[in-house]
Amino acid sequence: MPEMRAWPRRPRLVAGNWKMHKTAREGEALARELVELLRARPYTEIAVCPAFPALEAVSRALAGTGIHLGAQNLHPEPQGAFTGEVSGPMLAAVGCRFVVVGHSERRHGMGEDDATVARKLRAAQRDGLVPIVCVGETLPEREGGRTAEVLVRQVQAAYEGLDAGATAATVIAYEPVWAIGTGKVATPEQARESHQVVRATLERVVGAGAGERQTILYGGSVNAGNAAELFAENDLDGALVGGASLDATAFWKIVTAAAAGQRPGR
Ligand code: PEP
Repeated sequence: MPEMRAWPRRPRLVAGNWKMHKTAREGEALARELVELLRARPYTEIAVCPAFPALEAVSRALAGTGIHLGAQNLHPEPQGAFTGEVSGPMLAAVGCRFVVVGHSERRHGMGEDDATVARKLRAAQRDGLVPIVCVGETLPEREGGRTAEVLVRQVQAAYEGLDAGATAATVIAYEPVWAIGTGKVATPEQARESHQVVRATLERVVGAGAGERQTILYGGSVNAGNAAELFAENDLDGALVGGASLDATAFWKIVTAAAAGQRPGR
């Protein structure tokens, strides 16, 4: 399995966000099902992000399989008096490679602002994790013609001051808030347009080449039925999958579609 830190050719990545589902025992069972299904998989990076209490059991189930483990959140400080929080070193110690940062359910449901997301991105890198940085517009923002403005603001706030190497060692997930958990998937064109805004912003904020190099996933109601159409879009480097990642067969079908839709030469 190739290492994750650098993404010179943007290999596709499909990451499952299990949200607040699956106990440790249920998560371990799902992970074992996935390992079986994905045994002979084509070349696509795969990650699953269980809730904190399931991380250790899932980590054991995934050991040596090449399927990456991720967490759904971290505190920006490495340790301290932060009751109820979990730090990057704790996640790394349990085997996490990734951590989701700035998911819309945290931005909009738990008051995480752009500055907090920027701190968490840096904390993840400090602690040896690859942050999956989520950005995306709400429905009123899209309907008000403000999608690009929102994406520029979120990307700039998160990446300002990061160099090209640190930027390439992150993953961005474009997740329109109106598509998350709603069954309303963005069209491949909508996803491409937004990805291009993100890439252009990185070119300006980080430097020439940063946009082209960046791995950008699409997230929002991806399922086994729509994955192939989405992955036919070359600009999608993979997907962050919520609901459909809770079913091993559905997730496996999405991974298979991601690999099948891979552009030539990648
Ligand atoms: C998510 O949780 O990031 C997500 C995209 O959820 P869903 O696939 O259920 O829309």
